[in-house]
Amino acid sequence: MEKIMQVLIPSKIVHQIITALNLAKKREIGGIMMGEHIDENKFRINEITIQTHGGTLSSFIRSIKDFTEPLRSFFNRTKHEYTRFNYLGEWHSHQNFALIPSSKDTFTMEEIVMDPESNVNFAILLLVRIGQSGYLESTVTLYQPGRKNTSAEIIYE
Ligand SMILES: [Zn+2]
Repeated sequence: MEKIMQVLIPSKIVHQIITALNLAKKREIGGIMMGEHIDENKFRINEITIQTHGGTLSSFIRSIKDFTEPLRSFFNRTKHEYTRFNYLGEWHSHQNFALIPSSKDTFTMEEIVMDPESNVNFAILLLVRIGQSGYLESTVTLYQPGRKNTSAEIIYE
């Protein structure tokens, strides 16, 4: 059995997401995640983009033009060390639903990992919402070409 993937989320990112979710009220928002390969099966989310348009109460449509520039800038700052610093995946809120990928979410993620142009061998989907206690609730699902998707473990830093 393979080791489960661990995803580290620094408190800076948690605060960024909570602030954005509070502003968006019940609309879905999201973006892409960029991060660092720390160890075998261990990744840290270092940066996220926050796209506040394109979301409704029950769906979120990612806009490619919204993350092209942040991704380019991330690669420049991390000196194009792609094996260590790279695109990790997508995030969006499910403020009104369980933190389980919808069939459309799964379709989108499978499209990303199967697309030769995206040049990735995996992508993760982070789903978030603010729980009744005011804390961030989240799940991460790992997608890989030709494999069944699996849950990853989240570690708040
Ligand atoms: Zn969704």
